[in-house]
Amino acid sequence: EAKSAGRDTARFFTPEIDLHTRERQVIEQYLRLALANQEMSVHYQPRVDARSLNVVGLEALLRWHHPVLGAVSPARFIPVAEETGLIHPIGQWVIQQACEQIDRWRRAGLPPMVVSVNLSAAQMNDPGLVGHLQSCLRANRIEPASLELEITESQIMDNAAASGELLQAFKALGVQLSIDDFGTGYSSLAYLKRFPIDKLKIDQSFVRDLLSDPADLSITRAIIALGHNLGLGVVAEGVETAEASEQLKALGCDELQGFYFARPMPAAQLEPWLRERQAPLERRRNLASSR
Ligand code: C2E
Ligand code: MG
Ligand code: MG
Ligand code: MG
Repeated sequence: EAKSAGRDTARFFTPEIDLHTRERQVIEQYLRLALANQEMSVHYQPRVDARSLNVVGLEALLRWHHPVLGAVSPARFIPVAEETGLIHPIGQWVIQQACEQIDRWRRAGLPPMVVSVNLSAAQMNDPGLVGHLQSCLRANRIEPASLELEITESQIMDNAAASGELLQAFKALGVQLSIDDFGTGYSSLAYLKRFPIDKLKIDQSFVRDLLSDPADLSITRAIIALGHNLGLGVVAEGVETAEASEQLKALGCDELQGFYFARPMPAAQLEPWLRERQAPLERRRNLASSR
């Protein structure tokens, strides 16, 4: 009976809504098996120091490749993972991957880099999150400050009291905290002084048209000033051109991330990329010191 009621209701759906619902159901069904079937991987996107252009950090970005659906973007499956609670095991897996990778890069003798991991709203409710972070840091003997958590303003504001405690718990572990997509959430700026935040990441929507839209330039300049006045580092994401990179450097932005420097890539691809990038920098340094 419930089934036939379901069919009757379905008739009133517009085709688009129906399609959307079915797509979600398909994603949910496949997502349940994704970790077990090893369809998930983590890519890393470099972040450079605006002045030296040295790579100082990497953002861990989750990738899902399903044998039938192909590559599914996080924008499509993260919301489904959040609704179903699958974000807990998936999110914990990303943290574990990032920590193991930090350890591998250290053993390989790569220069120290901070790896950041995105946390979504539902993960903030995972009672096992802090314990999981702590055991991943320990198991891989990681300097806690080399792990960074990216959180959005809306996530903090949704439950400011609970978030305050959680952020303090993160801070007690020694990890770094950044506000992702800064400037797009609804928020009170008061949280910036109350919570132990280290960095602001200017949202890409302000960076995209930085050179053509005076409003975006004003907003970007204001975010950099606000961050610096509060003693926070400021990162720009979505840097796609040399011109944007120069402009952000001139504005005093600390770190830059975007396709102009590198796309997110698998760890195996990152190592040769880093070596190739470092080589000319080192040759220049050696030349300078031999003079
Ligand atoms: P985000 O945290 O703001 O990540 C930055 C997004 O911008 C990434 O998209 C990245 O590939 C893209 N991007 C980087 N540079 C450029 C650029 O120059 N131009 C343009 N147009 N885009 C650029 P991606 O990987 O598709 O991730 C989308 C969002 O999904 C992320 O936004 C993040 O909120 C979420 N996400 C990704 N991985 C995870 C994860 O492991 N856990 C959670 N909870 N969320 C994740
Ligand atoms: Mg992010
Ligand atoms: Mg994010
Ligand atoms: Mg972002």
